[in-house]
Amino acid sequence: MSEILVLVGGVGADAAVTKPVLELVTLARRWGEPSVVVFGSTPDVDLLGRYGVSTVYRFDGPEYADHLIAPRAEALAALVANRAPVGVLATASTDDREIAARVALRVGAGFVYDAVDVLADADGVRTVQSVFAGNYAVTASFAEGPVVVAVKANAVTPAEVQSPSPASVQVVEHEVSAGARRTRVVASEVKEAASSRPELGGAAIVVSGGRGTGGDFSPIEELADVLGGAVGASRAAVDSGWYPHQFQVGQTGKTVSPQLYLAAGISGAIQHRAGMQTSRTIVAVDKDPEAPIFDLVDFGVVGDLKVVLAQATAEIAARRG
Ligand SMILES: Cc1cc2nc3c(=O)[nH]c(=O)nc-3n(C[C@H](O)[C@H](O)[C@H](O)COP(=O)(O)OP(=O)(O)OC[C@H]3O[C@@H](n4cnc5c(N)ncnc54)[C@H](O)[C@@H]3O)c2cc1C
Repeated sequence: MSEILVLVGGVGADAAVTKPVLELVTLARRWGEPSVVVFGSTPDVDLLGRYGVSTVYRFDGPEYADHLIAPRAEALAALVANRAPVGVLATASTDDREIAARVALRVGAGFVYDAVDVLADADGVRTVQSVFAGNYAVTASFAEGPVVVAVKANAVTPAEVQSPSPASVQVVEHEVSAGARRTRVVASEVKEAASSRPELGGAAIVVSGGRGTGGDFSPIEELADVLGGAVGASRAAVDSGWYPHQFQVGQTGKTVSPQLYLAAGISGAIQHRAGMQTSRTIVAVDKDPEAPIFDLVDFGVVGDLKVVLAQATAEIAARRG
């Protein structure tokens, strides 16, 4: 069967088999056999085996952690040239997307980023992108070369295989070129404080607050926590200093595509929509019945978010026991 390489983002301790990676593996099985590529650590081979991964290619070496993405892009491109896979899949995180783009350039392949689906049937492999703030869906096919795609989180539900067996690990040697080592990380990285909430970009549920919160994000956080979701914010809320910038959703913030997006006190400006419009189910709470966000929603509540969110949180908590 044809091999498809799935990139695990990060290096060493940061290289985790996250839900978005398992989604890529599940997508890859639509048209081939997924193998995983990882830098500096051995992932959970039992977990990967359960999702149908038979081989893990592992690159080791300090240059992957000490430098920016160039060594990883070069190593992955060399592996692609060597293995001749039919596809390379990466998540839509900033680093993984750039690595995938560089790999495509090096191996002469077509590249699609921010895909929301990858289809495979008798007509071949096609990607689906949601563009112009989600108003159009673009389907693209590949004329030649391996299919290199960066896929948004929540494109598919990860599915285990029926007869799993642990993945085997192959250590791959690669001499990183001087050119790829030109940019080195010299200062220590400052890690964000760990949060018990899921990472915004890959979360299945996102609850976002806007200017309508008046600066009090506690109803947003409480609802997010009872749902096990991540917290997001509009730019108006971020610019007001009410919530940190890394939680901004939209054109100049994060792009999210969860199963459920709940916007509270967010009017639905085009720049905000650009970052959340591909969410599966969209719910909005706004006191203005004319707010543009209501043009977009599956379910809307007109009311004061403090009242509505508190009621929803209490009801969900009671039902969950
Ligand atoms: C180049 C550019 C890039 C941008 N990028 C982004 C981006 O990435 N992300 C982003 O979000 N924006 C972005 N913006 C800003 C965007 O245009 C809007 O200004 C912004 O999204 C508005 O945020 P908001 O919906 O929270 O505020 P508002 O538009 O002021 O809406 C607040 C809403 O809250 C409602 N409300 C008020 N009180 C309550 C209450 N008690 N209960 C319920 N509802 C209430 C109001 O009725 C209103 O609908 C960008 C703009 C530009 C020009």
